[in-house]
Amino acid sequence: MKTFASSGDLAEKAQKLEVIGDGVYALTAEGDPNVGAIEGEDFLVCFEAMATPVAARGWLERLREHTDKPIRYLVLSHYHAVRVLGASAFDAEMIVAHDNTRALIAERGREDWESELARMPRLFRDPASIPGLTWPTVTFSDRLTIHLGAGRGELILAYCGRGHTEGDIVAWLPGQKILFTGDLVEAQAALYTGDAFHQDWATGTLDNVAALGAESLIGGRGAVAHSAQAVTAAIGQTRDFLDTMLARVGAVHEAGGTLKDAFASAHAALEPRYGRWPIFEHCMPFNVSRLWDELAGIDRPVIWTAERDRQVWDQLQD
Ligand SMILES: [Zn+2]
Repeated sequence: MKTFASSGDLAEKAQKLEVIGDGVYALTAEGDPNVGAIEGEDFLVCFEAMATPVAARGWLERLREHTDKPIRYLVLSHYHAVRVLGASAFDAEMIVAHDNTRALIAERGREDWESELARMPRLFRDPASIPGLTWPTVTFSDRLTIHLGAGRGELILAYCGRGHTEGDIVAWLPGQKILFTGDLVEAQAALYTGDAFHQDWATGTLDNVAALGAESLIGGRGAVAHSAQAVTAAIGQTRDFLDTMLARVGAVHEAGGTLKDAFASAHAALEPRYGRWPIFEHCMPFNVSRLWDELAGIDRPVIWTAERDRQVWDQLQD
């Protein structure tokens, strides 16, 4: 019997702060959710908020060793709790996200919070410090440009299509060719696709991400990709994971098999390459369950609740 999701993963991960370019920072942590920051002339843009204010404060202390500029923008790549519920620690003037992300928080933010807390308790450092749901104060549908000033160029926030969720955005620095992708791309970490649109993600959305031509990429989890070649590899890994799921779950669905058959087939195909990467076992039951629905024509992901999580886990991951 496998331990539910990541509830047994309680060992602290080592955090690593990297200066990716001029005034561009990323904090990675051995497969835990990545965060970043970009300096403007007299302000900061932070990317992702971590799971709790207490967890976020640890990141901000590290960042403050490099810059004391105030945080004007907190950008949230998507609605997932482990990326947004630490927002209050940033004291940002504006919290920026996609229109759909704000709508998803209204629709399912509370359920997602309870679900993720039970799945990944270690990330929720002092969960009582969370003041409530995080509400974006600035939203957009296609593209939003932040002018960084002082010769620092632009930071472009862009929607690339439906993918990991219905409202993922990337943060792109065309001058330095640095790209923050949120969970749309993972580098040597398993994909979570429980709220995804697999067919869109594996095709047009990843095409749009690749077309930016990044030479450094900070994915949702995993190490920073430091070259065009490493960026291509990270995008390729993400696409291969999705294509493999689509092929295996699709074949079982087509043949009139069961969800359990689909899980076994997808797991067997992915395990040799991805089985040892962070959160692989945690994600697979939720991933296959969502793809099964997608193939059955259920357009929008069914809301995960703490209770539904356990039911799907018990059905598939035994
Ligand atoms: Zn996510």
